[in-house]
Amino acid sequence: MTERIKYISSNEFADEVLKAEIAVVDFYSTECPPCEALASKFDSLSEMYADDIKFIKIHRQENRELAVSLGVSSSPTLLFYKEGQLVGNRLTGGIKRSDIVANLELLIDPKRAGEIKGRIESKSTECDVLIIGGGPSGLAAAIYTAQAKLKTIVVDRDLPGGQVKITHLVSNYPGFSEPISGYMLMHHMSEQAKAAGAEFRLAIDITETDLENKFIVVDGYETIYAKKIIIATGSSPRTLNVKGELEYRGQGISYCATCDAKFYEGKHVVVIGGGNSAIEESLFIAKFASKITIVHQFDKLQANKLAQEKAFAEPKIEFVFEHEPREFIKKGSTVNEVLVEDLNTHELKTIGCDGVFIFAGMIPNINEIKHLFELDTWGYIKTDKDMKTNLDDVYAIGDVVSKSFRQITTAVSDGTVAAISISKELEREDSPMELINS
Ligand SMILES: Cc1cc2nc3c(=O)[nH]c(=O)nc-3n(C[C@H](O)[C@H](O)[C@H](O)COP(=O)(O)OP(=O)(O)OC[C@H]3O[C@@H](n4cnc5c(N)ncnc54)[C@H](O)[C@@H]3O)c2cc1C
Repeated sequence: MTERIKYISSNEFADEVLKAEIAVVDFYSTECPPCEALASKFDSLSEMYADDIKFIKIHRQENRELAVSLGVSSSPTLLFYKEGQLVGNRLTGGIKRSDIVANLELLIDPKRAGEIKGRIESKSTECDVLIIGGGPSGLAAAIYTAQAKLKTIVVDRDLPGGQVKITHLVSNYPGFSEPISGYMLMHHMSEQAKAAGAEFRLAIDITETDLENKFIVVDGYETIYAKKIIIATGSSPRTLNVKGELEYRGQGISYCATCDAKFYEGKHVVVIGGGNSAIEESLFIAKFASKITIVHQFDKLQANKLAQEKAFAEPKIEFVFEHEPREFIKKGSTVNEVLVEDLNTHELKTIGCDGVFIFAGMIPNINEIKHLFELDTWGYIKTDKDMKTNLDDVYAIGDVVSKSFRQITTAVSDGTVAAISISKELEREDSPMELINS
C-alpha cells in the first residue's frame, strides 16, 4: 500500500471523490487475479499523476451498497471523476495500462498531460526466462523454470489462462475425474506458477520486440531483457465475421470438436466449413450428435478423398452446399438457429440446431514476428525436439508450434520440454568449467 493511494469506505466517498477536482476510483476485491494485475499499474500511475489526480481504492464487497448504486458489478472496475461527475470510459476486467492513461489524460489539461508523459522514467528488468503468453503452455513452462529458481517473467496481453479460461468445461485434462471449468483449471495453473515465484505482467501491450537482442518493451516503459525467451502466444480460430459469432462463443459456438462434441450427445449440430478439419471433425462429432448439417460455401468439399467418402457414407451427416452463414441466433441458453444465404439465389433460410462448430482454420498469434522464424506451410513455428526455434535462445511452445495435435496436454508437454531444456542449458552456461571437466 503506498501513500499516494487512499483506501476509503463508502461514507468517505462524497468528500474524497465527489468533492475532489479529479479522482480515479478502483473498486477492487481480494483474491481477484485481475485486481492483482491492475494493482501494480494503478500504483505506478499514481506515482506519475498523484500531483494532479486523486487515486482512490474502495473494497467492493465491503462497500456493496455504494458499488451497486454506481452500477459496479465486477472487480476490478475503474471509474473516473471530474468535479463530481463521471467522465471517460468505465474500465473493467483485464484493464490495460494504455486504456487507463487514455482516460487519465481526458481529466487533465493536454499540456500538463504532455509534461507528465515526458517525465516517465523507463524501467529496465533482467530475467533468466521471459515467457510471452500465459496460456497452458506458458504457465507450465513458468512452473518448471520458476521451481528451478530461474527468474521467470510471464507477459500476456490479457489475463492468464489462454484459450482455456474461456472454455466452459474441460473433461480431458488428466487428474480430474469430473469435468473442470476451463477458468478454474487455468486459475490453478497460474496460482501454481505464482507460488513457484514466477512474476507476471498482465493485460499489457508489448510495444517493441527484439528477439535477436533478447528484449521486449512492455507498455512503452519497461524493457525486459532475458537470457532465454519462450514464445507461447497460441493460435486463434479464424473468425467468419458473422453476427452472433463472437457474442456466443462458448454458448453454442465452438471451434474444437475434441473438446466440445461430447456435450452434443443426441443433438443436432451445424458445422461450418468443408476442408479437412471440418470433415474429419464432423465424423468425430457424429459419434455423439444425432444429426450434423455441414454448411459449405462451395459446391463440393475441399477435404481429402477418404474423409469425403466417410462423410458421404455417414447417415447422420447432411450437406448444404453453396450457402454461407449470415447470423447465429440464440434464443435460449445456446445458439439454436443459423441464418444462411443461398449464394446462387441469395435466398435466406434458417436451420434449427442445438449448437454450431466453426472450422475455418486457425491463425498462429505471431503476426509481428513471423518473418524471423522458419515456419511450416500453415505458418506455424518449426522447432527441434527441445522446442528450440531457428533463433538462438528463442523457444516456441504450444499451439503456435508446427505439430499434429493442439490440446492442453500437448501445450503443457511443450512447456515442460522447453523449461527443462532451458534449465539444463543455463546450468551449463553458468558453470562452463564443470562442463569441461565432466
Ligand atoms: C473453444 C476451445 C475449447 C477448447 N477446449 C479444449 C479442451 O477441452 N481440452 C483440450 O485439451 N484443449 C482444448 N482446446 C485447445 C486448447 O485450448 C489449446 O490447445 C491450448 O490452449 C494451447 O495453449 P497455448 O498456451 O499454446 O495457447 P493459448 O491457450 O492460446 O494461450 C496463448 C496466450 O498468449 C497470449 N498472447 C497471444 N498473443 C500475445 C501477444 N502478442 N502478446 C502477449 N500475449 C499474447 C494470449 O492472450 C493467451 O493468453 C480448446 C480450444 C478452443 C478454441
